[in-house]
Parts: sequence; structure tokens; C-alpha cells
Amino acid sequence: MHLDDSQLAVQSLYRSYLTDHLEPLTPGFESGEEPIFPFMRKMIDELGIAAGAEALERTGGAGAGSSADADPDARALADYAQTQFVVELARVNPGFCMSFGVSLGLCAGNIRTKGTPEQVAQYVPALLRGEKVGCWCLTEAGAGSDAFGSMRTTVKKDGDAFILNGSKTFITNGPAGDVFLVYARSEDDGSIQAYIVEREFEGLSTGPAFKKMGMKSSPTSELFFDSVRVPAENLLGGGSKDRDHVRKSLARERVGIAVMGYGIAERCFEIARDYAKERVQGGQPIANYQLIQARLARMYVDVSNARRIAYSTQSESALDASAAKLYLAEVGTRVAEHAIHILAGNGYMEEYVVERLLRDAMLLELGGGTTEIQILTIARHILAS
Ligand SMILES: Cc1cc2nc3c(=O)[nH]c(=O)nc-3n(C[C@H](O)[C@H](O)[C@H](O)COP(=O)(O)OP(=O)(O)OC[C@H]3O[C@@H](n4cnc5c(N)ncnc54)[C@H](O)[C@@H]3O)c2cc1C
Repeated sequence: MHLDDSQLAVQSLYRSYLTDHLEPLTPGFESGEEPIFPFMRKMIDELGIAAGAEALERTGGAGAGSSADADPDARALADYAQTQFVVELARVNPGFCMSFGVSLGLCAGNIRTKGTPEQVAQYVPALLRGEKVGCWCLTEAGAGSDAFGSMRTTVKKDGDAFILNGSKTFITNGPAGDVFLVYARSEDDGSIQAYIVEREFEGLSTGPAFKKMGMKSSPTSELFFDSVRVPAENLLGGGSKDRDHVRKSLARERVGIAVMGYGIAERCFEIARDYAKERVQGGQPIANYQLIQARLARMYVDVSNARRIAYSTQSESALDASAAKLYLAEVGTRVAEHAIHILAGNGYMEEYVVERLLRDAMLLELGGGTTEIQILTIARHILAS
């Protein structure tokens, strides 16, 4: 893919910043010795990426059109920059990328697009600046793939508030969360809506961080709601008649996960290619061996196909979002596995990074809907048309 000068400048800014600042901190983040959120806030500030936070404050949540809205070239560059930032984060630390995406994308993003102006003004600027940590809370112990059908977390209207009871699990950023966007079923009319819950609300508690296979930089936990009193004005958007509300969020999440899969694959391919050219066995670089070349060629095919999809998929199409997520998540694990084979013993060692990227890539096949759920979604859409 040809990048113009502006795109190259964006890529180079993000890559050098994250290589210099995020990469060295990653071992501490992975071991859990260092929390990720102070750095996330600093990064947002230093890169100047708290998009529109000030305008939202100034306008009481309405926001202000940016110059990019009027200029198609500026709009295209802003879209590219957003995708490229996810790619660059995923190349260095997919777990950090996931926590960032959940707080600023799923939590702040949903409040921004679906919230009332008051909700946007109250919650979004601090989330965009990284001053507050956001969570997006759908999954329950008995409601994973069937999150809506089996949901048992409930709300009941009580005067000027809703009483929230139940629990959620596998919640990214849960242990450190300040703002929780919680999906719950109404005991009054059976509808599922999202509610903005603050850490300080009485009756909310979070479990300790789970010990996981990968994505270790990203803390994950359970949440418990014991008769939490949520003010009526914290019903997202004052209540949505749009039944597709959550499915649209899922489509956005799936595109984000797909882009992460691409970022992981791109980095693994580069590490393996460079290693193959340098590593000497039998008196010559292993890149001279055709079996190694075959792996590199297959990795390249995956990476180049994935690249076209990562930079072009729009979340407006649920079908395309699921197709991209299914394919690119698998590309992430497949290319990372090839990289480990090429690096062999070194590939199994932490120092060479690809083993972490493989463990992190595995989550992309599970979160935001499993592989099976993407296949079912794709089949449903293609058979309905
Ligand atoms: C690290 C991590 C972070 C996460 N972060 C969040 C978060 O921030 N917020 C949030 O809400 N959730 C989060 N999740 C939850 C994630 O979205 C769920 O794990 C995922 O949706 C799958 O649900 P489940 O684990 O309960 O699997 P299950 O639904 O129990 O699935 C088990 C198996 O059955 C298959 N299966 C289920 N139903 C069908 C079917 N109808 N047909 C065919 N096969 C089927 C699945 O594909 C899978 O192979 C996170 C999970 C992890 C691991």
C-alpha cells in the first residue's frame, strides 16, 4: 500500500513514540508490577490524541465540527491516523492496545455517539484524556456468546433511579475502572439498555485481576452489582429505541480487533523475515532454505491480504465487520505461529517477542464474539440477502 507524505509522517510519529516509550515499559506491564493507566494518560497528552475533548466541554457535550469534517482529505487522513494508531499499538503491546480501545472506543465512544449532551459532557472528555478509565460490560458468567438471550443482570425503576443487580465477567479494565457502561435487562419492560455506572456508586464492587494466557498488560475482572442505585439520568441516551444499538457497537469492536490482528501479523512477519536473513545454520542464512522461504511467502500473502482489509473495512456493515474479524484474527495467530517456527528456540523465548504476540493474538479469536459466532453471523447475513 502506497503511503503519501502525510501518512508516512503519522506512521513515523506513532512508531517512534511507541517504540521509545511503550516497548521498554511492556515487561513491567505484562508482569503486573506497573499499572498501565498513568502511561496511557501521558501518551494521550504527549501525542495530542484526546480528539475533541475540549470542544465537548466548551459546547456542553454537543462537540464542534473539526476542520476535518469539511475537508475530505483531512477526513481521510484522520481515519488513516486512527487505524494506524491501533496497528502501531498492536505491534508493540496488544494488551495495552485492548485496554486503550475499550476505554476510549467502546466506553467513551458509545457514550459520545449514544449519550445525551449532558452525559457526553460529564463523562467523555475525562475518558478521552485518559484521566478516567472506562469499561464496557456485556458478558456474564452464564451469558457469553448468547449475551442478550441469557442476560441475568437486571434493573428496576425506583423513583428517580434504577436499581441494578447482577454481575459481569471478563471485563477489560475492570480492576481499575472509573466509568462502567453496563448492559442490563429491565424488570419493568424486558428491554436491554446501557447504564452509566460510576466506581463510587454504592453496591458496585470489582474482583481481582484474572490470571490469563495473554493480554497480560490489560487487567480483566468480574463486576458485582448489589442493589446499585443508578440515577435515572444515567440511562444511556435516555433510553434507546434502536434495537441494533449494541450490534453496531459490536461491529465497531470487531473492526478494531481485526486491525489489531493485522498489526500483530505485520510485526511477526518483519521479525521472522529479518531473523531468517541473519540466522546462520549449516553455513548459510536459514532464509536460503526453501522450507523457510515457503513459510515467509505464506506469511506475506496473509499480511498483504490482511492489510487491504484492515485499512478499508467500514463498521457500518455488520457482515464486513464479522468477515474482517474472522479472517484477520486468524491471520494474527497463524503468522505469529509461523514466526515462532522460524525463530525456533529463540521464538519460544520472551526476549524475541513473538511468543507474547501469539498468546495475545489468541484472544482476538475469542473476544468480541468467537470464531464460531463470526461464522454464524456471516452465514446469517449472506443467506438473508
Ligand atoms: C481477556 C478477555 C477480555 C474480555 N473483555 C470483555 C469486555 O471488556 N467486555 C465484555 O463484555 N466481554 C469481554 N470479554 C468476553 C468475551 O467477549 C467472551 O469471552 C466471548 O464473547 C465468548 O463468550 P464465552 O467466553 O462465555 O464463551 P461461550 O459463549 O461459553 O462459548 C464456548 C464455545 O461455544 C461456542 N458456541 C457458543 N454458542 C454457539 C453457537 N450458538 N453455535 C456454535 N458454537 C457456539 C463458542 O464459539 C465457543 O467455542 C473478554 C474476554 C476475555 C477472555
